[in-house]
Parts: sequence; C-alpha cells; structure tokens
Amino acid sequence: MTYRAFNDNSLGFTTRQLHAGYDPSEHYRSKTVPIYQNAAFELGDFERGIRLFSFAEDGHSYGRYSNPTNRVLEKRLASLEGGEEALGMASGMSVISNTFLNLAVSGDEIVASKTLYGGSITLLKKILPQYGIKGVFVSDENDLSSYEAAITEKTRAIFIECLGNPNSNIVDIEGIADIAHRHGIPLVVDNTFATPYLLRPFEHGADIVCYSATKYLSGHGTLIAGACVEKGGFDWLSGKHPQFEKFYEDNRELIPESDLKKSLFSRRLRMTYLCDMGAHMSPTTAFHLLQGIETLSLRMERHVQNAEAVAEFLISHPAVAEVSYPGLPSSPYRALSEKYFPRGPGAILSFRLKGGLAAAKKLIENVRLFDFMVNVGDAKSLIVHAATSTHFGQPPKVMEAAGVYEDTIRLSIGIEDACDLIADLDQALR
Ligand code: PLP
Repeated sequence: MTYRAFNDNSLGFTTRQLHAGYDPSEHYRSKTVPIYQNAAFELGDFERGIRLFSFAEDGHSYGRYSNPTNRVLEKRLASLEGGEEALGMASGMSVISNTFLNLAVSGDEIVASKTLYGGSITLLKKILPQYGIKGVFVSDENDLSSYEAAITEKTRAIFIECLGNPNSNIVDIEGIADIAHRHGIPLVVDNTFATPYLLRPFEHGADIVCYSATKYLSGHGTLIAGACVEKGGFDWLSGKHPQFEKFYEDNRELIPESDLKKSLFSRRLRMTYLCDMGAHMSPTTAFHLLQGIETLSLRMERHVQNAEAVAEFLISHPAVAEVSYPGLPSSPYRALSEKYFPRGPGAILSFRLKGGLAAAKKLIENVRLFDFMVNVGDAKSLIVHAATSTHFGQPPKVMEAAGVYEDTIRLSIGIEDACDLIADLDQALR
C-alpha cells in the first residue's frame, strides 16, 4: 500500500492532525510516532558529517537542535497552520524570547499590544532592554493608528495575541498586518488561546505564529512546551533585518537558495538560537504533544460550546456585574469575533462580581468542580483570581489597562458536561 496521507495538505484539519508529517514506512511501519531518546546521532561518513553540521542535509546530528520525533511534530504543526516550517521548543516563553532575539538586535525595537501574557510583558519591558532591545507598547490596541504611531525606523516586528489575557479581547489582525508590511516588518501572533483550529493567523496576514503548547495543543495539563511556525515568503532581505542578510550570505553556498529563502527565519532560529542557546523541546515531550494534537479539533469544538453556555449563564446571573467573552452579543469584540473566529472565540473568559473582592474570594473557595489553578487550555475547567495570580504585583494602572480589577475572575472552560459546570458556578455564586 502506498500510504501518502502524511504529506497531503488537501486533507481536512482533523485528518491532518492525525497523519500529517509522519511517514510510518520510514520508522519500521510503527503506527505510533517513535520517541528517539537520543542525545546525538551517528554522523555516517565524513562528507555526511559536514553536510549535517552545515545544515545542508535535513538529518540529525545532536539533540539540542533537532530530533526525528520533534521533526514529525514540527511538520504536523506546519501543516495545520498552513506554514512553511515549524520549530518545537522547551516552553512558550522560550519560543517568544528566541523569536524576539531572532528578529531584533541591540538598538532595535519591537512594537506590541498591551493585553499580553505577563511573561511577554516582562520580557519586553524589563529583560530585553538589558540587551538593548526596546519593547514599545501601543497606546490603544483597538485603534490601528496607535500601531502606526508606535513604529519608528528601529522597529523590527509587531507582536500581538490572538485573544488577550484575561478578557479574550480581539485586535484587528488584518489591519495590523497591513501596517507592519507597509513598514517592511513582520507581524508575529501568539495564537496560544485559539490554536490553528479556531484561527489561522497566516490567512490574515501574519508572518510568524508562536504557541505555548503547554495549553490547548497538549490539552491535558501534562507538559510544558512551545512552538513557532513560519509562513514563508516574507522578504527578510529588504534591509530591515541586516542579521538575516548576513546569515543568508554565510549559508547560500551550502544550502540551496530557494530552501534558504523559504524559511530563513526558522533556519536562523534553529542554527543560531537552538544551536547555541539550546531551548529545544525534549523528544518525549514532542511525543506527548503529538498525542494531544490528535484530538485538538474535537476538544476545541467542545471547549467553545461549553464556554458559550457558561458565558450565557453568567451574564444573566444577578450576582455577576460584567462578563468578558467575545462570543456574547453584548461584547464590544463581537464583530471582530465573527470575522476572525467563525468557529467561536476560544474558551477563556472573565467576569466581575457585584460583591467585589470579598465575593471573588468566596466564589473561588466554594467552587467544587473548577480547579483553582493558573494554567489555561486544560481539558478540565480551571478558575483563577487574576489580580493575585496572572497579574500579581502589577501596578493598578497596568492592571486596569489589561482589564483586570480586584474582583476579576478568569475561567478556562474545559470539556466536561456544560450542565455540571453551570451547576457548580451557580451553587458557588449562591
Ligand atoms: N503565551 C500565552 C498567551 C500564555 O498564556 C503563556 C502561559 O501562560 C505563555 C505564552 C507562556 O507559555 P509557557 O508557560 O509554556 O512558557
């Protein structure tokens, strides 16, 4: 039997989440992707060793920058995302930090929206400036002219999240991509909360997509991992990113030019940052992540259905002051949600209570089914008090800009029976 589902990108999303990127005939016909638990690989003959170390051959020499199990995961993610190349890393934060380091050098700037995950804010505000890279936050992320105004001659990328934290706010991805491209810079999207099943940022103009794979991609709260995917086709040689021009010149004689140009971002990321800073994902993690991805579309459909039911319940509850979920008809993000999220705007929502902080504390102490945990994207439903966890220690003004108040509760809605989730919230609110 000639079995070719592994590289047929015309197959549907759910079929590809099970088959893309894996050819069993190359692995003793093992139907499960094997875990290659190797530190290093035999180089073979002398000439092959040279080809591997110059990355002219798509093989494996040392596990700090590539591994066959991880390669399957990377090919599967590239297929699901509709991108040219993907890279798996040790955590979402390692992906975001290495992406920024790849895009910017000392003296450069990165423009970002404000409602980001706390780790990304700290990276841009406090850590990267120590190395001469400045994070510039837009004044109003809902206003496209704010992005234009934040860009200078030194800007090397725009960074946004698909659904903000904790309120799942939505920005106009296509408008922001147009602005980035007018300035010759890429748009980078953290698509963690949506996954490629709900949103494929490349179809809306993005150039790089980052993931904390710890969340929905894995889906069961069992691992820490990250991944980034490159669309391919961005012009890295336009003069805005001299580090890519040098990399291209250094490698064009070793790697076929068309391959090099197609995925220059990922190649430089692997050959520079994975090689010498070493945040590669472990092959065992890649294996577990592949198991999680096999059910991604089914889980996301159920997550969204449940989130819609819980949001509807909360908005009509007398103890609740406000609910932030872009799927609600009353949400200011409803139009953007319909445009970008036809399958539903994820399953993370927040709400405020009429009883303020005391009521928020009481609610968290009284839920029985929801777990009091800071993670999101688990199959199980999670609850957290944003001001004392995800946004702990931020000045009140920063919290308010992110839509976090003393009584803001964030829910990550799981795939349980919706009636049980609603009954639990109902008894705790009472
Ligand atoms: N991006 C988003 C949107 C997140 O929510 C998180 C973590 O919560 C991260 C990135 C960082 O991911 P990790 O915890 O896998 O490093």
